[in-house]
Amino acid sequence: MRNVLITGSSRGIGAETARLFAKKGYNVYINYNKSENAALALLDELKNYSVQAVKADVSKPDEVKKMFGEISGIDILVNNAGIAQTKLFTDITNDDWNNMIASNLSSAFYCCRAALPYMIRQHFGRIINISSMWGQVGGSCEVHYSAAKAGIIGLTKALAMEEGLSGITVNCIAPGVIKTDMTSNLSEDDFTALKDETPTNSIGTPFDVARTVVFLASDNSSFITGQVLGINGGFVV
Ligand code: NAP
Repeated sequence: MRNVLITGSSRGIGAETARLFAKKGYNVYINYNKSENAALALLDELKNYSVQAVKADVSKPDEVKKMFGEISGIDILVNNAGIAQTKLFTDITNDDWNNMIASNLSSAFYCCRAALPYMIRQHFGRIINISSMWGQVGGSCEVHYSAAKAGIIGLTKALAMEEGLSGITVNCIAPGVIKTDMTSNLSEDDFTALKDETPTNSIGTPFDVARTVVFLASDNSSFITGQVLGINGGFVV
C-alpha cells in the first residue's frame, strides 16, 4: 500500500484529495495546522480507510522535520498547503510577503527535501505541487501570491530534471477558480461573472483537482514529469 502525504488537507482541495486517495486504497496522511476539528472530522468520516492525521505548520522547517519523523516513508507527496491574500501591491508588508512565500513556496521546499531521500532510495516517488493559474499569468492585487505560485512552477520543473533518473516524477497543477474557503470572499455575482468568462461556463470543484492529483500519482502517469496542468475550464490556456 503506497503512503501519501497531503499538506493542508484539513479543508478544501486537500481534504477532497485525501478522501479520494483513501477510497482508492492508499495509506493517507492528512496534514493540518490550525483546523484540528476539521482534520479530526475528516479522520472520522474516513474511519473505514487507512488514514492518519498529523499536525504541522509546513511553513516552518523544524515542524516539517518533526512531521517526517512521525510518519512512514512517503511514496507520494502532495504540496497543497497554501494561503491567499488580496492586497494592493503597495500595501503588502514585509510580514505579508514573508508569510506568503513561507506558506506557499518554502513549505514545498521543506517537504520535498524531507521526502526525497526515501524516494531516491526506493527509486520511486511522485511529487505533485499545487500552484495556481495566477502563478502562470499573474493576478492583480495578488502579486505575492502570484510570485509564490510561479515559484512553485519553477521548483517543479527544475526538480523534475534532477530526479527523473531516480524514478521520481514531479508535476504541478495550476487550478483556476475552485469553490472552497479560499474563495469564500467572492460573492455569487462574482462567481457568475467568473463563470461567464470561463469557456466551459463552470466553476471548478475540489474534486476536479483531486482526481487530477490522483491520476498524477498513479502508474498511468509515469512518463509525465515537469509539467504544469491547468485545471481551469479554459480560463487560462
Ligand atoms: P483552503 O480551503 O483555504 O484550505 C487551505 C488548506 O491549507 C487548509 O487545510 C489549511 O490547514 C492548509 N494550510 C495553510 N497554511 C498551512 C500551513 N502553514 N501548514 C499546514 N497547513 C496549512 O484552500 P484551498 O482552496 O483548498 O487551496 C488549496 C491549495 O490550492 C492552495 O495551495 C491554494 O493556493 C491552491 N489553489 C486554490 C484555488 C481556489 O480557487 N480555491 C485556486 C488555485 C490554487 P489549516 O486550516 O489546518 O491551517
